Amino acid sequence: MNVYDSRRMTDTLAPEGYSETTTADDADLIILNTCHIREKAAEKVYSELGRMRRLKQAAAENGRGVLIAVAGCVAQAEGDEIIRRAPAVDLVVGSQNYHRLPELVARAGSDGPLVDTEFPVDDKFDHLAAPSDAAIRARGVTAFVTVQEGCDKFCSFCVVPYTRGAETSRPVNKVAAEVERLAKAGVREITLIGQNVNAYHGAGPDGRQWSLAQLLERLVQLPGVERLRYTTSHPRDMADDLIAAHRDLPTLMPQLHLPVQSASDRILAAMNRQHTRADYLDVVARLREARPDLALTSDFIVGFPGETDADFAATLNLVGEVGYAGAFSFKYSPRPGTPGADMDEQVDDAVKSERLQLLQQAIDRTRAMFNRGCVGRTISVLFERPGRHAGQIVGRSPYLQPVQIDASPSMIGAIADVTITEIASNSLFGALAQQPSRVPAFAGAGA
Ligand code: SF4
Repeated sequence: MNVYDSRRMTDTLAPEGYSETTTADDADLIILNTCHIREKAAEKVYSELGRMRRLKQAAAENGRGVLIAVAGCVAQAEGDEIIRRAPAVDLVVGSQNYHRLPELVARAGSDGPLVDTEFPVDDKFDHLAAPSDAAIRARGVTAFVTVQEGCDKFCSFCVVPYTRGAETSRPVNKVAAEVERLAKAGVREITLIGQNVNAYHGAGPDGRQWSLAQLLERLVQLPGVERLRYTTSHPRDMADDLIAAHRDLPTLMPQLHLPVQSASDRILAAMNRQHTRADYLDVVARLREARPDLALTSDFIVGFPGETDADFAATLNLVGEVGYAGAFSFKYSPRPGTPGADMDEQVDDAVKSERLQLLQQAIDRTRAMFNRGCVGRTISVLFERPGRHAGQIVGRSPYLQPVQIDASPSMIGAIADVTITEIASNSLFGALAQQPSRVPAFAGAGA
């Protein structure tokens, strides 16, 4: 979501004469777009701001003014504290306010430090400038589109409900217009994003609230939309119509990121996840019935307060049972202001490390198994960029695996069938099964 937000900030500042620089040293305005999910997020921001302050000083010595802005979830959570601890900062802008950047930047430049972290009633998406065709093309053949923001679930380890606010969904027509524009400019694959994306309930053209499945059905009808994905989902919001969409919509790629976090019912309850292990496995079974080749990935937290060896064993056991195609896993670390941070029975760090290692080994095994199952198969690949070595290009399979082949960069933007010949730890290798049927619209993109 921060990639998407950063691009929309760039688009919104373009009419003011701003364009992107490749390094911060050349910038007149530096925006640090921050994430609060990772450990010690605020401390990392302050240390980065120390570097920015030195850049600002060096520019001032050469007679050039530089503005520093902090955006995103750390800005939302820290607010005035950022100006207090880092006086070189000119502007703190919360995650719901970046549509106001042109006005805020102008005011910060003339009136001094500003903080804007209110949750406004107006829809920021209505005020964001659209990217130019050239900007869309420069960003490649895949794109993110935010359809939903915020979260009402209040998992006890998570800051999102506090930093991004309550769940809101963009209207269907506005999402469709943005997707149509991207597809017309040559984007082949769209990923719909939201912190709890499958809780989507945007206003439909008929005046009713539409589900994510209804939105997907609308988007597959748009010309040029060849691949759709969505992320990140909560197991409780995997509605029947969304599961059916995985069966009925060939444009919806057979891949789903479905965080479980833990597979111990006791820990799931302490996490306030609002689902049990059995609920999760039931959703997985129904998804696999709808789309047998579905690649499932997940998020795991090890060492949540009170997690025993038995709780962890239940989680480890789930990895093999589901057979994940991949997963992100982390040691629990308390986020200030969340209920988990005040819980007793915090788990010792050495125990967390040991559990994390075991979990990651288990995930590596199931991922390798999933990837091995692709060897010898012919699968469609959307080519996105040149490879690391000359003569190589890289694309993504329907299951989101990186696939490398030897081919001309002129194929970037094409979707072609590739026969998979071998696997490495994180990617597949293959050869073209046939020449692509579509003429690439993005020749040279990403080079
Ligand atoms: S559902 Fe996801 S975003 Fe919402 S509180 Fe839980 S972990 Fe955070």
